[in-house]
Parts: sequence; structure tokens; C-alpha cells
Amino acid sequence: WTSETIAVVTGANRGIGFEIVHQLALHGLTVVLTSRDTGVGEEAAKVLQEGGLNVVFHQLDIVDPSSIEAFTEWIKENYGGIDILINNAGVNYNAGSENSVENAEKVIATNYYGTKNMIKAMIPLMRPSDAGARIVNVSSKLGRLNGRRNRIENDEVRKKLGDDEALSEEVIDQIMDTFLEQVKDGSWTDGGWPQVFTDYSLSKLAVNAYTRLMARIFSERPEGQKIYINCYCPGWVKTAMTGWAGHVSPEDGADTAVWLSLLPEQFITGKFFSERREIHF
Ligand code: NDP
Repeated sequence: WTSETIAVVTGANRGIGFEIVHQLALHGLTVVLTSRDTGVGEEAAKVLQEGGLNVVFHQLDIVDPSSIEAFTEWIKENYGGIDILINNAGVNYNAGSENSVENAEKVIATNYYGTKNMIKAMIPLMRPSDAGARIVNVSSKLGRLNGRRNRIENDEVRKKLGDDEALSEEVIDQIMDTFLEQVKDGSWTDGGWPQVFTDYSLSKLAVNAYTRLMARIFSERPEGQKIYINCYCPGWVKTAMTGWAGHVSPEDGADTAVWLSLLPEQFITGKFFSERREIHF
């Protein structure tokens, strides 16, 4: 990995995203620190630039198609392509008592659709290499299909999300639509959705399913043009999202993302990790 290697990190003005940028830059890569707020993002990038790191800022709001388009054009013009994409940007309103239709919509729109939009926009820009281009999605154990706690109990949805053969983008989108319709008409409490952090957990279930789906689709790419995609849970991390109540530092929360991005030619794809170890979906 050299300064010619280009990594992009979403939602990197603070928290885990900022630390991912920091650690990737310490490995000598050129890292694009993106943030939806230009002022805040530039300030964050400055901190790392002043430490002598190769960090560049660009505005990026993953739910705004025009922002994604402008970012894509900027990458093309300035670098021609990228090697690593870390989808870290996310929101969670479940930590307070802020359950609402609007918040559920924002969570699904950001965590799932925003992540998906970024992957779609970046695929054509992912540069061919023997080591393969890399995508890492920052997910959560709350979004586990087969976890002991907070399981999704709706059998039909479980079956659909767990059936890798039949899994498709339409299947995942349709499950998100059904959930949001039920949130709007108030029937979601009987829907068999995850019991706690419901919209957030579901958004991460969708990210995990999409990771497995894309790994299958990417496996058909010819040698030399492979893209390896994985997701991971950073643990319960002391950031704004948890009100700094977690027990993991942002530095440690970033570690598995950096490790997955830089894995030497091991070609792991379509898997879920925690603390550098594979865990089940
Ligand atoms: P933070 O709230 O500190 O950081 C979230 C980042 O995402 C912020 O930079 C935020 O920007 C950005 N963001 C939100 N919406 C958008 C958007 N539309 N476009 C671009 N950026 C956006 O939380 P964390 O660092 O903890 O979270 C990072 C990731 O880790 C998230 O995906 C989260 O779900 C995941 N995670 C976190 C855990 C934890 O315990 N903290 C546990 C499991 C997973 P802004 O500053 O403008 O709001």
C-alpha cells in the first residue's frame, strides 16, 4: 500500500470514521475524509494534515444524490478511481426516546440506502488490482439474523434475508418498504421486527444482507478486477452515537475496518467480523 492507494471514508468528521481515516493514513495511503458538513470536515482533515498525514477533504452527504454525483466527478478528475471504500456514515435515534416515523425513515435512508448508493456510485471507479479493491461496511451485531438477542422473529422476513440464493436488492428494499409502511400505520409492534433499536437494527440487517449479495455478484468479476466486500461490528464505542457511553475507544472501534481494508491477498469476501474474527450473520 502506497500513497497511490486511494481510500474513501464516509461520515469521517468524527467518531469511528475519523479514526479509520487516521489509521489508514498512518499506513501511508492517501485517504479522502468526507463529511456532509464542509466546515466541520475541513477542520477534521486539518488536524490530520497538520500531523503530516496524506488526508484530503471532500464534501459528501450519502443521502443526497447530487452530493454523491459531485463527489464521483471529483474523484474521477483528481484520482481516476479508488481502491478502498469504507461505508461508515450512519445515524441512530434509538438511544434516546426518539422513536418517530421521520427518524425511522432517516435511519433506513442513511444506513441502508445511503450505503447502497455509495457502493453503486463507486463500483465503476474501483481500480483493478491483483489484491482486489475493498469495500468495508460498518455494521452492528444488533443487525444479526441469528443473534441470541434482538432476533428478527418475523419468519418470512428471516427466511428471505437468510436465503442467499434468492436474495436480491428488490427483496431487501421490499422488506424496508414493508417495515416503514407498518411504522406509518402503527402496526409495526406486531411485525416481528427486532425488539430493541428496531429501525437501527433493521437498517444494519439490510446492510449485512446487501454485503452478502454484493459479494456474490462481485465474485463473477474477472481476475484482476475483483472487489472484496465485508462488514463488521466495531463494538459499543465511545462516540456521539452512544453519548460516549460505550466501552470501546474509537481507535479500537476503527481497527477491524482498517485490518479488513489492508488484508494481504487473502481474498475474504461476504463475511461479518468483530475484533478481527469472523462472526455469524
Ligand atoms: P458518530 O455519530 O460519531 O458518527 C457518525 C458519522 O456519520 C458522523 O460523521 C455523521 O455526520 C455521519 N453521517 C450521518 N449521516 C450522514 C450522511 N447522510 N452523509 C454523510 N455522513 C453522515 O457515530 P459512530 O462513529 O459511533 O458511528 C460510525 C458508524 O459505526 C455508524 O455506521 C454506526 O452505526 C456504527 N456503529 C457504531 C457503534 C457505536 O457503539 N458507536 C456500534 C455499532 C455500529 P455528522 O457529524 O454531520 O452528523
